[in-house]
Amino acid sequence: MSMNPFDLSGRVAIVTGANTGIGQGLALALAEAGADVALAGRTPAEDTAERVRGLGRRALVVPADFATTAPVQAVVDRTIGELGGLDILVNNAGIIRRADALDFTEEDWDSVIDTNLKSLFFLCQAAGRHMAKQGRGKIINIASMLSFQGGIRVPSYTASKSGVAGLTRLLANEWAAKGINVNAIAPGYIATNNTAALQADETRNRQILERIPAGRWGAPADLGGAAVFLASSASDYVQGHILAVDGGWLAR
Ligand code: NAP
Repeated sequence: MSMNPFDLSGRVAIVTGANTGIGQGLALALAEAGADVALAGRTPAEDTAERVRGLGRRALVVPADFATTAPVQAVVDRTIGELGGLDILVNNAGIIRRADALDFTEEDWDSVIDTNLKSLFFLCQAAGRHMAKQGRGKIINIASMLSFQGGIRVPSYTASKSGVAGLTRLLANEWAAKGINVNAIAPGYIATNNTAALQADETRNRQILERIPAGRWGAPADLGGAAVFLASSASDYVQGHILAVDGGWLAR
């Protein structure tokens, strides 16, 4: 038994949306800390799986489209069946739609809320039922700066991520006594597909960089330490916290 409170050896994690971007970075960070990882998402995360195996951990690729809640229970069941347990859930899969609030469509509202908030809640529920039975578990939801701020031209995204922050606190209240830690990471501006349009917009890119005290976009690897902390016994008394990893953005 390791004395290192950040050690995840023998733990099994699910990371959603891990074929690219932040999800891939989080899956690799958990694997580096010792966890076996189920990679659940729309595009099969074969590349991430190879890299997890390269770190000496087991990887399971689970195709799942979280536009609806249909695959949720099967993702949890397959992980437990094939990797032998479930200790950590990282809800990372998410989408964004940009349009003026005056023109925003119902489709752009529903698709973002269904993926970012509804599927996230039911994944927490399915994993939480297992974790409550075993009396132990770690849930990490991926929030956003827009869990704290209003944003602009992203109404369904802001609603979903503000909802994720609220749900994280609610679930912590209900499940802390069951040995389940529910927390969130709020990434700042991280260079991924999700922010490609912002990075490509010269004016917005300059405005964003001017406001980040660290003076640079974040990389998915910048979030790894926070994820390992919240997935490990080092955070056993941390509940309902939204941990910003933002280069100082919120401090401005
Ligand atoms: P990304 O590169 O676009 O990755 C999003 C991931 O979610 C991809 O794996 C994507 O799969 C998956 N996904 C989307 N819709 C899905 C669905 N219906 N079913 C299953 N998987 C689905 O973006 P990212 O920046 O890494 O975003 C990851 C998370 O971080 C999101 O929740 C995002 O809101 C959040 N976040 C990002 C930033 C940032 O600056 N980048 C900041 C704050 C929060 P596909 O590849 O198949 O689309």
